[in-house]
Amino acid sequence: KDGSIEVIVGPMYAGKSEELIRRINRAEIAELKVLAFKPSIDNRYSAQHITSHNGKQLKCIPVKDAKEVMEYIEKQDFDILAIDEVQFLGDEVLKVCQDVANRGKRVICSGLDMDFRGEPFQVVPNLMAIAEHVTKLTAVCMTCKMPATRTQRLVDGRPAKYDDPIIMVGAKESYEARCRKCHVVIR
Ligand code: ADP
Ligand code: ZN
Repeated sequence: KDGSIEVIVGPMYAGKSEELIRRINRAEIAELKVLAFKPSIDNRYSAQHITSHNGKQLKCIPVKDAKEVMEYIEKQDFDILAIDEVQFLGDEVLKVCQDVANRGKRVICSGLDMDFRGEPFQVVPNLMAIAEHVTKLTAVCMTCKMPATRTQRLVDGRPAKYDDPIIMVGAKESYEARCRKCHVVIR
């Protein structure tokens, strides 16, 4: 049996989680056993579920790193490995995905391909390089309504600066989808 890696990428609100949930649902209808994970640092909604911004949910196993994924998949029988928010697992997740695919299984990951600066994000660009299938989704730009490829970071309603720390104490932070033209990073 041929294994393969599929990656679903795009900015926030592009429908990455929705698409991952869709693929997992279809696999389960085909009576395939899916092991689904997401990093436990992503506590936006429920740690036990892959959750999309339009409210769809699917049960998953929260993990703190790629090693924990490895421990689970060694103990359990499965056909498909699925990982949401893969950008928050370390570089070691590459080897996990590669090993599972080499063993003839299907791997499906979703995650952000760019950070708020519009630069390649963590392990995701490397995962895209070794994947058989890359699906790049777009959201709707909140400024001009055209397809959005980037995530705009806002601090107290204003575009974030390039060097702003990832956690701004006391500031109100938000993110929205924007196209290349409307995406702003203050240098
Ligand atoms: P992602 O995992 O890429 O962040 P989700 O699957 O969680 O995306 O959410 C996708 C859903 O977000 C869409 O189906 C839509 O209902 C909602 N949504 C909210 N804002 C936007 C936007 N700017 N562009 C597209 N979809 C949006
Ligand atoms: Zn725009």
